[in-house]
Amino acid sequence: MSNVPHDDPPLIAAGGNALYRAIFEQSPEAMVLTRVRDGVLVDVNQAYLNLCGYSRDRVLGRTAMELSMWADEATRERVLSPLATGGQVRDVDVTLRTQDGSLRQICISVSQVEIQLQAYLLFYLRDVTALRMAQAAVLSDEQALERANEQLNRQLTLHQMTEAVAKVGYWVVYPGDAMVHLSRGYCEIAQMGGAQVVPVGEHLQSVVDEDRPLVKRALKQMDDAIVEYRWRRPDGKVIWLRSRVQRQVELGVIRAEFGIVQDISSERAALQVAADQLAATQRSEERFRALTALSSDWYWEQDAEFRFIRFDGDHESTKARPDESYLGKTRWDSGVLGVTDAQWEAHRAAVYAHEVFLDFQMQRTREDGSLMWVSISGAPVFDSEGSFKGYRGTGREISARKQAEADIERLAFYDPLTELPNRRLLIDRLSQAITASARRSSYGALLFIDLDNFKVLNDTRGHHLGDELLKQVAHRLTGCVRSADTVARLGGDEFVVMVEEIGDTELDAAAQADAVGKKVLIALNQYYDLEGQTHHSSPSIGVALFFGQQQSVDELLQRADLAMYQSKAAGRNTLRFFDPVMQAAASARAVLEADLRRAMEEEEFLLHYQPVVDEVGKTTGVEALLRWSHSTRGMVAPAEFIPVAEQTGLIFALGQWVLAGACMQLVAWGASPSTRRLTIAVNVSARQFRHPEFTPQLLDLLRITGANPYRLKLELTESMLLSEFDDAIGKMGELRSMGVSFALDDFGTGYSSLSYLKRLPLDQLKIDQSFVRDVLVDPNDAAIARTILSLARSLDLSVVAEGVETAGQRDFLLRNGCKAFQGFFFGRPVPLESLQLLPD
Ligand code: C2E
Ligand code: CA
Ligand code: CA
Repeated sequence: MSNVPHDDPPLIAAGGNALYRAIFEQSPEAMVLTRVRDGVLVDVNQAYLNLCGYSRDRVLGRTAMELSMWADEATRERVLSPLATGGQVRDVDVTLRTQDGSLRQICISVSQVEIQLQAYLLFYLRDVTALRMAQAAVLSDEQALERANEQLNRQLTLHQMTEAVAKVGYWVVYPGDAMVHLSRGYCEIAQMGGAQVVPVGEHLQSVVDEDRPLVKRALKQMDDAIVEYRWRRPDGKVIWLRSRVQRQVELGVIRAEFGIVQDISSERAALQVAADQLAATQRSEERFRALTALSSDWYWEQDAEFRFIRFDGDHESTKARPDESYLGKTRWDSGVLGVTDAQWEAHRAAVYAHEVFLDFQMQRTREDGSLMWVSISGAPVFDSEGSFKGYRGTGREISARKQAEADIERLAFYDPLTELPNRRLLIDRLSQAITASARRSSYGALLFIDLDNFKVLNDTRGHHLGDELLKQVAHRLTGCVRSADTVARLGGDEFVVMVEEIGDTELDAAAQADAVGKKVLIALNQYYDLEGQTHHSSPSIGVALFFGQQQSVDELLQRADLAMYQSKAAGRNTLRFFDPVMQAAASARAVLEADLRRAMEEEEFLLHYQPVVDEVGKTTGVEALLRWSHSTRGMVAPAEFIPVAEQTGLIFALGQWVLAGACMQLVAWGASPSTRRLTIAVNVSARQFRHPEFTPQLLDLLRITGANPYRLKLELTESMLLSEFDDAIGKMGELRSMGVSFALDDFGTGYSSLSYLKRLPLDQLKIDQSFVRDVLVDPNDAAIARTILSLARSLDLSVVAEGVETAGQRDFLLRNGCKAFQGFFFGRPVPLESLQLLPD
């Protein structure tokens, strides 16, 4: 119990403002002020007392818990918990017990206030019991309104029936008589015993006070008036009566005042129930309308013919609700857009089957002509007999959601630079096209387009010009195909064009695809204007036809890609069709690649060494040549697997392994005076040499093994030096400063110019074996060999002649100043054990 004195001035008035007090007191909203410290109620208004049924004295100074208003302390704490963290309690539904013990559904809001440095909670309470029940009725059964209506109708028929069977009585006042004769039926209804004669006016004493004037008025009027009124029987029970009064009816020969009385209590009660229900439903219907007005949703109804008969909702704020011009039309006749024939079909099927449908999406035109997306959901309506009455449901504008979906789709499925479909979308469309091709039994084609020398543009003139070119290419490609075809960008400078329905025979299809490819070639060969600078670019195109589901999406892309590489190999700026021979080579390559990886793991590689000799035949060093001792294929030549290792990047690891082997061999030879001067030449592939880790890893290797760098010679080929000239010079310089020397392998087969040769930090040229082979029979080759030798002399480079197989070849080269030789004449590449380092 609290210590709040009851006779204190009410707290709300404490601020001295009588206006606040008046507002508080007269508010139709129930309010109660409680003290935070102990939860005691310190002030309440009249509405609160009405709501909970207590007197003011009973509640002030107590807590709501003491009054057992809350179900339990935990519930109260849970409802009020947001306040502790500065949150709000707004329109929270709680169940509270009132004075008479009944439970009411109360919607409460709570504010924290401070009055005279004390913290209080000001509760606003609204009794929503009836509302919630009505809402529940609406929510659980939107047909409550209809039910109520039907009930009313049923009661009316009931009324007609009761008229026939219910007890009927009458009263008569004879002319000039002051007495009323009440019939037996009347007295039975009124429970007055047998028939009676009472003074006029006396029998009206039993009419309930409020209804008496009504009855009197009817009696005065008398003109066949019908009046319904309540009658208090002697046992105290109130019944409803209906009287029909008539002046001067002919009763036989007598003219009299006459009235018929009928008990309509049961009819009235039934009507009351129905009317109450109707009122409640209408209230909740209003509430429902208010809700739809607040949200952007609208409400619609259709008749059994699917014609709109009603719209509700805030047309003003959203403009999304259809206007009256839609009334009387079906959804499919209302001119909406964005729905495919198939979707309409499905929708119609659903509503004809009287099914619930959700989120049916379509487009409507706004007043300003712009399009909006709306989503419609609906449920069928049936009457109590179960016959279909129509549909009702809600609609909502989803333009923003659609926009967001479109944005997401764009990000996921489109290339941001060119706005073309990306690989993912292409794959999706391709798989659909394959299915469609099977269904229509018509051919399609995939054109794989790769820009020639795009990297050069990107590297020399900047990425933004590269991007600009890609955009223009995208634009031109789109112009080359029909709108139903797909142009996609796979990334980089790779594009794919997919065309469908290009013929029923392979021949037709090939001709059509060829035409499209030629069109693309011409379009992409036109000069480009890149920020004011003229630029020429050409594509290499690979074409793969598809027909039905013979190939998977991946296979098709691979085929077109392969054909594109054929175009590149054929000199670029051209078009090639996929051909199965090429495919066989490619799959063989794929098999080889997998095999190579396995071989590396299983260490099937080994090194053979071929001696390099001086003019007297003394071995000065060796060339390390890689061998693959395949588990089933036997010895595999490097020419077969080195290119694959290069293409797949495996060459770096493989080359590393060779270098490590060579270094270790150098260390072994370094231990003996007879071998410590021997050099080892190691072949280095372009891709391997270009690898950023090449130099650091080789330096590490030399350090770790302790191999003498002056004994290590790296053999490079011209082609690789050409492509990244400056970078190569840098790397060579760095390694040379450590003592490693460099030889240019296969010299004479490339395009090296003299000026270029002069700039490379080389130590040695290796005359390619193709010149050596015919040096005695082909004067051209002899001339080339001679020229290389004199060139090397002038550049101060040593020369090794490769592929020397005969004494004649050796002698010719010797005569022309060659001092180092390598070839079968001196020794084949052999395992270390078989290597004869000194001539016999
Ligand atoms: P290459 O660097 O020109 O190696 C010389 C090739 O000529 C070797 O072929 C060798 O066996 C062969 N040969 C040597 N003397 C004669 C001869 O008198 N007559 C004839 N007809 N041929 C002779 P091999 O061993 O089949 O190697 C082929 C190519 O594979 C090498 O050509 C080289 O470019 C590459 N290669 C070999 N091992 C490696 C390696 O470890 N790494 C890299 N990147 N490439 C390697
Ligand atoms: Ca070599
Ligand atoms: Ca060579």
